[in-house]
Amino acid sequence: MMQNRDMKEAPVVLVIDDDNAVREISRDLLEESDFVVEEARDGAEGLSVFNRVKPDLVLLDVMMPGMDGFTVCRELRKLPGGERTPVLMATGLDDLESINRSYEAGATDFITKPLNWTILAHRIRYMLRASRTLGELHKSEGKNKALLNAIPDLMFHINSDGTILDFKAAKDFDTVFPISGLSGKKLYELLPEEVVPKAIHYIERALQTGETQIFEYQFHFHDTTYTHEARIVVSGEDEVLAIVRDITEHKRAEEQIIYLAYHDTLTGLPNRHSFKNQLTQALTQAKRYDRPLAALNLGLDRFKQINETLGHTVGDLLLKAVTERLENCVRKSDVIARFSNEHIINTVARLGSDEFIILLTEIEDAQDAAKVAQRILEVFSHPFILDYHEVFITASIGITVYPYDGEDVDTLLKNAGTAMYHAKDQGRNNYQFYNQAMNATSLEKLVLENDLRRALDRQQFLVYYQPQLDLRTGAIIGMEALIRWQHPERGLVQPAAFISLAEETGLIVPIGEWVLRTACVQNKAWQAAGFSPFRVTVNLSSSQFRQETLIRTITQALDEAGMDPRYLELELTESNIMKDAETTITMLHELKSMGLRLSIDDFGTGYSSLSYLKRFPFDTVKVDRSFVKNVTTDSDNAAITTAIIAMAHSLNFEVIAEGVETKRELAFLSKHQCDGMQGYLFSPPVPPEQATQFLKEGKHL
Ligand code: C2E
Ligand code: MG
Ligand code: MG
Repeated sequence: MMQNRDMKEAPVVLVIDDDNAVREISRDLLEESDFVVEEARDGAEGLSVFNRVKPDLVLLDVMMPGMDGFTVCRELRKLPGGERTPVLMATGLDDLESINRSYEAGATDFITKPLNWTILAHRIRYMLRASRTLGELHKSEGKNKALLNAIPDLMFHINSDGTILDFKAAKDFDTVFPISGLSGKKLYELLPEEVVPKAIHYIERALQTGETQIFEYQFHFHDTTYTHEARIVVSGEDEVLAIVRDITEHKRAEEQIIYLAYHDTLTGLPNRHSFKNQLTQALTQAKRYDRPLAALNLGLDRFKQINETLGHTVGDLLLKAVTERLENCVRKSDVIARFSNEHIINTVARLGSDEFIILLTEIEDAQDAAKVAQRILEVFSHPFILDYHEVFITASIGITVYPYDGEDVDTLLKNAGTAMYHAKDQGRNNYQFYNQAMNATSLEKLVLENDLRRALDRQQFLVYYQPQLDLRTGAIIGMEALIRWQHPERGLVQPAAFISLAEETGLIVPIGEWVLRTACVQNKAWQAAGFSPFRVTVNLSSSQFRQETLIRTITQALDEAGMDPRYLELELTESNIMKDAETTITMLHELKSMGLRLSIDDFGTGYSSLSYLKRFPFDTVKVDRSFVKNVTTDSDNAAITTAIIAMAHSLNFEVIAEGVETKRELAFLSKHQCDGMQGYLFSPPVPPEQATQFLKEGKHL
């Protein structure tokens, strides 16, 4: 037998015939034509040789003892590689029956016996060529099919009215619709409602322009959002090929990449890059609306040490816990509550391993930034419990404020950093403004605030009383309670220096309550001392007025003092009641029904008309000092004052003039039927002992 390369190149013909002569002649003849010949004497041997040598062609005799040629052919077709090997059947001459049976058994062609030796070699060569072509075709078809199957895209042929002509599924492609029997269906029967118009639009565009259209669409299915990308290619006059790819994963990865590019992985906070973008946007807004903004650069003090002694796991936990506290601080600060609206874009970002930055956009002045900084320092004073470790850490904060410290992102960031290092230099655990002058005012205010917080406990407040007099009889008809702060270093502090701070910090609520109780007790004491009863007037700030507990507080104060409510007068400023007129009216009626008196303070400064006041159940209108001043020389003031008196009377309000300093003012007011007065002319606010003295003396106008 021939071996090796020759064998591979020369086609192998297997001759299965029981006739020795036929086999021998075939061999001679075919070898002469460069074929390699293998022989078998019967069917069984034929099959085993076939299995062994895998011939390129089989010449098979029909009539053989044992297994006949038909059976051999059928069996051969079942063998591996036997499906497509050409089989040339040698049948009896013109034996139609045998010819048919040969084809049925899977023969490729037939040749009649006795064999025509001259054409046998040609016939075989011809068959081999045909078989090779067929084989190649088969291979490439297989390849194409494999290729198509490997493409992860759905493919549709669709005509212009959205009918699917044919369809190719794709492996692992989650579809919203069943993927069989699609032909003839309309797009709207398959696609989510919101996608159909888009698909139709692009199909039409593709058909109009002849250009490939690419679009993405999203839809929800089984709690998942899918993203598909569709390419629409024109494939006929009225027909497109839509190639749809599931890019859900790709999109997710893309989003993840974007997220990672803009966020710090450990804390989930925006990173420096992202922060700069936000600051840029915030600056644009700040410039447009002419508002300040602040950036707080926060560095953890001695973070490295914690990392080294407790390990990185604890270090990481600490950073996460710090993040949480910072976010809470920024959200819940007073500053934010004050501007409670949706546009808050205060942001905490992480700049580096132990460095954070906070953007405050909703501030009114630098002081607000200092407050947030102060609050942050406070929350750091509580230990962090991490993995059973109690960790104490402090922070140093540098503050920059637009527009004072810079007008662009880089300058502001740089200056915030400088300020932070300054805070570290100052001994850590503190904050510093980049602008030194701001440090001074902020510090001053903070010290005052701290003192104020303690003043109530330390009993540093006093109530002074200023008599109110009846202009007709000249007698004392009331006393206005006015607070004073006996500060250990500053001396007697006037309300102008601390009331607004008390309001800002909410301290006005307990302080105001104290004034109320003190004034009630004092009033009752005067009555108990035998002076004929008169009212005491207490100023209420708007935050007290908005407290749900106000009624209870007042009732308690009256009960405690054992005082008749008609001797208590509450004073609200005009601007306070105008803030939320409807709620105010309801509340005032409630107070009135308790039997109290109500008065409106500083009237004339809030631009409200008296007729508007008709709706409020006031007893007294107090004309503001600024009108009373110079009432005798300034004709405008005179006109306003007389008008207020006249109109207030028409509404049955009592009128008291504030800040009366001269006799001429007094005369003017008397002449115009003003009911009462209060002012330095008679007495400034005085301590209770002195007020008692007035009463004893029966002092009057
Ligand atoms: P107000 O209620 O309008 O009190 C009148 C203020 O005018 C008092 O100032 C009083 O000293 C001053 N005044 C009285 N007569 C004259 C005068 O002839 N000439 C001048 N130039 N001033 C006169 P004070 O005591 O400094 O209080 C200032 C403001 O502080 C008060 O204005 C009131 O709005 C507020 N205030 C005082 N005590 C309290 C309080 O207990 N609670 C609240 N919420 N506010 C208070
Ligand atoms: Mg007052
Ligand atoms: Mg007043």
